[in-house]
Amino acid sequence: MLEKKRDIRALTKDQLRAFFLSQGLEAFRGNQVYEWLWNKSAHNFDDMTNISKTTRQMLEDNFVINHIEVDNMQQSSDGTIKNAVRLHDGLVVESVLIPTETRTTACVSSQVGCSLDCKFCATARLKRMRNLNPDEIYDQVVAIDNESRLYHNIPLSNIVFMGMGEPLMNYNNVLKAIDKITSPEGLGMSPKRITVSTSGVPKMIKKLADDGVKFNLAVSLHSAKEEVRTSIMPFNETFPLNDLREALEYWYSKTKRRITYEYVVWKDVNDTKKDIDALVKFCKYVPCKVNLIEYNPIDGGDYQQASIEIINNYIHTLEKNRIVVNVRRSRVKDIDAACGQLANKS
Ligand code: SF4
Repeated sequence: MLEKKRDIRALTKDQLRAFFLSQGLEAFRGNQVYEWLWNKSAHNFDDMTNISKTTRQMLEDNFVINHIEVDNMQQSSDGTIKNAVRLHDGLVVESVLIPTETRTTACVSSQVGCSLDCKFCATARLKRMRNLNPDEIYDQVVAIDNESRLYHNIPLSNIVFMGMGEPLMNYNNVLKAIDKITSPEGLGMSPKRITVSTSGVPKMIKKLADDGVKFNLAVSLHSAKEEVRTSIMPFNETFPLNDLREALEYWYSKTKRRITYEYVVWKDVNDTKKDIDALVKFCKYVPCKVNLIEYNPIDGGDYQQASIEIINNYIHTLEKNRIVVNVRRSRVKDIDAACGQLANKS
């Protein structure tokens, strides 16, 4: 039986160097190949023009490069792009490029489907099939960077881990991908331009703080009332608000970086004065800002966006309490690329 070839991008640079030595070749060839794989995003060994033909054949005999393929690219009237990305085993995830006047942001996926079951989210219906590998996360960013240059004439400026999946449930691979994205041997992006958005897994938030990460943290809060949050995000029963609060206090004590709370206001769910007051109280625990996100109903879903009056009440009360609040209007409903809508429909 033929032995299955290994994905060469699962190897560290040191492992690649050691491989070349084991073949009786110079270790620095490993550095050259590493640069082709990451910095230049080579799809084939034959692209590696400073490597001899014999060596390229030897690599071909031992390894594969499991690159993603953008299967389907949809462009919205506002310039937003949604990629359906096919992985080497045929599974599909989605990633999105969101342009504004001054920057472009990539929203990338970290899992195929999701481990969690937020009631308002289309991805939750897919269930988790597997975690993405670091290279599959990295490739989504490279694809969007290329599209940003091609369609908007600027390089990608920001990344949010807010696509399919709970990034902290794929902790090691997400951190390895960010290492590559920020490394000069990868894309050389500043970690300050990267935000990992979590539904709030307390143990892993503390681990991020202990690991000294330099990127930003956002939490999908959606309610600061225990029973309401549990009804929207059932895992809140396992990780209640007090545990989340304690983890966020720990994060701030270690990093001194404020948290962003992502918050959607739904009709008849979290649209009362008590909901607003609970959010204000929660915001006082740790320095933070609040992003109020416009909701995009999903097919067959029960949730509806609250009225503009209620949103204005939220804004007014937060501002009165000196809490920074931004409203994130959704402009991409025509291609189902908005937050909570990624569900491989294309
Ligand atoms: S909102 Fe995020 S964490 Fe919740 S089910 Fe959807 S993808 Fe998963």
